[in-house]
Amino acid sequence: MLLLVDLDGVVYRGSEPIPGMAELLSRRAAAGDDVVYVTNNSMWYRADYVERLASMGAPVSADRVVSSPRATALYLREVEPGLERVLALGAAGLGRELADVGFTVVMAGAAADRVAREGIDRFEASGRPGAVVVGLDPDLSWERLAVASASIRAGARFVATNRDPIYPTERGLMPGSGAVVAAVETASGVRPVSIGKPAPFLLEEAARAVGARPADAVMIGDGILTDLPAARAVGARCILMLTGVSSRLEAEALRGDEAPDAIAADAPELEAALSMLRAAGSA
Ligand SMILES: [Mg+2]
Repeated sequence: MLLLVDLDGVVYRGSEPIPGMAELLSRRAAAGDDVVYVTNNSMWYRADYVERLASMGAPVSADRVVSSPRATALYLREVEPGLERVLALGAAGLGRELADVGFTVVMAGAAADRVAREGIDRFEASGRPGAVVVGLDPDLSWERLAVASASIRAGARFVATNRDPIYPTERGLMPGSGAVVAAVETASGVRPVSIGKPAPFLLEEAARAVGARPADAVMIGDGILTDLPAARAVGARCILMLTGVSSRLEAEALRGDEAPDAIAADAPELEAALSMLRAAGSA
């Protein structure tokens, strides 16, 4: 079975591992399941997750982590095979993922500095980006916003890693990628393709990473507005975890097509739900 596993709110919550999850996923991997981690987080590079998940005892390798920047890079490579230069408005992890698939990456911060120093003409003369990729930019500035939206207005393809409006941290709710994307959308007048959940692209890339079909996967996630609709969009089954942002009351209020295939409050309930889906799948 292919398990597409969300990270924050499922495997860990902030810096705290969720009890029993790493052990359960290790048992599933040893029993032959494919475990692929899927996260909308647009800030980090795959190696960062490998280190973190391995330290928790979860089964992981770089090709089993499909974050929204990784999926965005793979998507752009497919839809724009001739594309060379990409402008990235986001964190360092986004730039590294785009570079890994062979793009020449210009970070929006560097581009903004260059435009301030040399003017827009020199920047344009050095080669206009064919695409602008936007994620969460922790150093967002008006100048970076200006460079990204100018490139889009000049014809670059606009792709968003995801559109999460906010995300939870130890310091409270913080503005997510969606807030940055909305600013670029407003300034450029162009609506982007968004790769992360609830859109289907992230799960499609994750399944493709192990040569499987997304419709054969089981999505394990905590987000009613992200994981659940993404699973539905690719025809995958979904187990909704109550270890993150969703409550039992919210989960049980979902009806018909909206409802997950199972609800699990913790790792033992997830294990039972997976056995149930496995039995149903082979029947
Ligand atoms: Mg989550």
